[in-house]
Order: sequence, then structure tokens, then C-alpha cells
Amino acid sequence: MTQPETDLAALPTIADLYGADAAAIAAHFGDAPRHRQLFCNRTLNLRSIKAIGYDMDYTLVHYHVHAWEGRAYAHLRQRLEAQGWPVAGLEFDSQSVIRGLIIDKRLGNLVKANRFGYIKQAAHGTRPMTQEQLREVYNRTLVDLADTGRWMFLNTLFEISEGCMYVQLVDLLDQGVLPGVLGYEELYRRVRHTLDRAHLEGQLKAEILARPDLYVDLDPELPLALLDQRESGKKLLLITNSEWSYTKAMMSYAFDRFLPPGVQWRDLFALIVVSSRKPSFFTGNNPLYEVMSDDGLLRPCNDNLAEGQVYYGGSAVVVERSLGLDGDQIAYVGDHMLSDVHQSKKLQQWRTVAIIRELEEEILALEAWQPQQQRLSALMADKARLEHAFSQLRNLRQRQRTGHGPTVPQDQAPRLSELANIVRERLLELDAEIGPLVAESGALHNKHWGLIMRTGNDKSLFARMVESHADVYTSRVGNLLLATPFVFLRSPRGTLPHDM
Ligand code: IMP
Ligand code: MG
Repeated sequence: MTQPETDLAALPTIADLYGADAAAIAAHFGDAPRHRQLFCNRTLNLRSIKAIGYDMDYTLVHYHVHAWEGRAYAHLRQRLEAQGWPVAGLEFDSQSVIRGLIIDKRLGNLVKANRFGYIKQAAHGTRPMTQEQLREVYNRTLVDLADTGRWMFLNTLFEISEGCMYVQLVDLLDQGVLPGVLGYEELYRRVRHTLDRAHLEGQLKAEILARPDLYVDLDPELPLALLDQRESGKKLLLITNSEWSYTKAMMSYAFDRFLPPGVQWRDLFALIVVSSRKPSFFTGNNPLYEVMSDDGLLRPCNDNLAEGQVYYGGSAVVVERSLGLDGDQIAYVGDHMLSDVHQSKKLQQWRTVAIIRELEEEILALEAWQPQQQRLSALMADKARLEHAFSQLRNLRQRQRTGHGPTVPQDQAPRLSELANIVRERLLELDAEIGPLVAESGALHNKHWGLIMRTGNDKSLFARMVESHADVYTSRVGNLLLATPFVFLRSPRGTLPHDM
């Protein structure tokens, strides 16, 4: 068994602490580094959770995004080429798109919105739009994700290949070299459909299965976290949209090597549901089948799920009923913002944990940028003070001209202009210093699109979704190891603009 890389290695020394005070004992167990912590939006006592459902892809099994999405992109390109499209020269660029961006299918744009839906950054195809173009095109437009005819939110890392290909094809469509495509919306449908086929037909998955070492990012701490949870009496469920043959191979590859002798990945789970068709797993009542054999033979079955079995399809309602649990006794852990996190919470009132791997890089980038952030905040505070002075001087001059309200004597009027000029010059100097820092902060994490959780100084639409739908969010399931199955996660008090 490979030794997990946790602070648990330090456990034997705890004996030295006997007789010491409670604070010293607490200090012994310390916190995880910030980028590996659990962040809580809504208080969650894990002790009161009786069952934890896990998504598989990009949750229990993490992939090297560049490799997995690179293969998906190559399959997509090959299929489009076979349709006669001139795509042979296109290359996958995993940096061109980040999760949480939104495709505007009507205009062929990729946009980043803030928490209110205002579009703060956009590109037409692969070409970034200037602030002027942005104002012209989106001045009166808010992103409304309910309007799925127009807006397509990039929910998971599986959508990076799709986004990258779509923006490249918009360029080709503008050049008039895509035969028979009528517009940006149709272009999107063609890309979506083609990628869908690549995921569903066997070849792409067969390549992943043939060389999992190239695609799977192993995490030794993760199986141990689940083992601790199972031993604490929780029922663990695996609910994945992947098919049985793929699930079995991936789980075995990612788990078995890290489990104690005699324990296999299947032993961890009370129930396994494959081809679950989330999000409709949470909304509807898809037919349920039992998976009878390793090669995926199916048999229709009644709604009473038996422990240790593998099922195909079905619904969240059936799972709840079989376990005899209420929604708030079940937590679901997944990476897909809409189906895993939003729907499970909205429709079933399950407690939710969002897995956001990008947080690790994002938090480390922010930590490294901390000195510049402090400088930027100080400059912005100076700027606000000077702007206030400038507004006051301007108002005094206005009153001076109109003769209403208290102002300065007539002979001091020129002095007001002089002071305003001094302030204006200092403001210009400040802007010259602030501009490059703001540009640098907008390129943290991703050089084109910046941080996934922020848009400028505000929260991004992605961050708003995390805040509204995820009770807890964290970068990876392995982070639950240090937290233990007994953790009581409390949401912070929360800040408001008028806080001191
Ligand atoms: P989950 O995250 O464990 O629920 O599984 C995700 C599954 O959905 C994987 O098997 C993916 O290959 C599959 N998938 C991801 N994107 C698409 C798509 O666009 N069309 C069809 N299947 C997809
Ligand atoms: Mg997933």
C-alpha cells in the first residue's frame, strides 16, 4: 500500500502530548494548506450525513485535463474533417477556455460574466473583444442561463475541448470556409453533436482505457478518505454517467492500488449506479436495470435497490427510498455545476459538495500575488480619497458659478482650479501605476481569462453558482481525508459592503 502524503505521518508523536493542554493538542492536528481546505457556504455537520453519493469523472477520478481533453479534441477534429471541414491544421489549446465561461451561441462569442450576469470580458471566436466592442454588443444584455437557446455555460472540464474547438470554428465560419453551416447557432449544434458521439461511441474511451497512466491523475489520499467514511458507518454511493465497463476499469485503476490488502474499490460502495443520465437522474424516473455481469448485461428490476449491486439508470427518488433516508441526510459530491451540484440540491434537497480542481492553482496564484494585491489595494484607496477631493473641488466651483450654497469667496475661485489640477495630475500618475497591476491581476491563473472565481474585482457568475448551490466546495475529494468523517463545517459570518 502506498503511503498517503498527509500530516497523518506525524501521528506517532501525539503520545508526546499527553498531559499537555487542549490548545497544544489542537495545534498538533493543524490545518491543511489553504489550497487544500474545505470551504463552507452553508453549515454542514458531516456526522448527520448518513449517505454520501459520489460522481466519478473529475470527482473520484481526476484526469490530466490537457491529455484527456486533447484526445477528445483530436476525435472531434477527426470527425469534423471526415465531414469535409478544413480543420486539419487546428490545434488544441487547453488555455483558450476555462470552466465557467459562457458560449453565446447567437453571436459566436465566448464571454465571462460577473455575479449579476453582466458581461465583463468577451472574445469573438478566438479574438478578444475590446472594451468598446463589448459595450457596443452587450450594453443591454445580461447572461440568463435559463435561456439555453442562447447561452451555454461551461459546467465541467469535459467542456474545455468543445469550447476550444467552437471558438476556432467561429474564425473559420467568418472566413467563409465551412461548407453548409448557416450560422453560429448551427455551428454550435454540430460541434456539440459531434463531441457527444465521440464520448458515446467506444473509440475515445478505449484509448483512455488502454493507457490510463497517461490520463488519470492518481490521488493516494482519496481511497483512504472513503475508507474512513465507510468505517464511520456512512453508506457510500457511486452515481456516474459513465457506463459500467469504463467505470469498473477506471475505479479499479484509481483505487485498488491504494486500498489495504483484500479490499477492492467495490467494497467501499453500498450502491453503484452507472449510466445514470444526470441531470435527469435527479429530475425524472428513468427506467432502472440491474447490471448482471462484468460485460454489462442488463436485467429490468423493481425499485428496491439491494446493497452491493450495480444498477443502470434509475433516479434519485428510488435511491432515497431504498436507503430509507431524507434528502438532507444525503450529500452528493460532484464536479458538474448544473447536474451534480445545482439539480441535486434544488430537486432533492441533497446536501452538496462541489469539486473545483482549479481552486488549487487559483489559490496558489493569489497567494503569490499577495504583495502586489496589497500595493494595488493601497493605490485604490489613495485613488478613492483623491477622487473624493476632486469631486468636492468641482462642486465648490459649480456653487461658485451659480452662487447657491456655501462655497469659497470670489477671489479664491482661481485657487480651486489650481487645487483641482494638482489632484487630477496625481490621479493620472496613480492610474499609470494601477493599470498594469490590474492587467496583471486579470491574467492570474489563465492568461486570457484570469481567475474562474472572479471577474475583475467582483465575483464571477461561476462563483455565484458555487455560492448558491454548493454547501461546501473544495479542490478535490482527497481533502476530506484530513477533515475526517466527523467534521462540523461552519459557514463564515459572511461579509457585507457596510461591515467595518
Ligand atoms: P460523471 O462525471 O462520472 O457523471 O461521468 C461523466 C461521463 O459523461 C463520462 O463518461 C464522460 O465521457 C461523459 N460525457 C462527458 N461529456 C459528454 C458529452 O458531451 N456527451 C456524452 N457524454 C459525455
Ligand atoms: Mg463528473
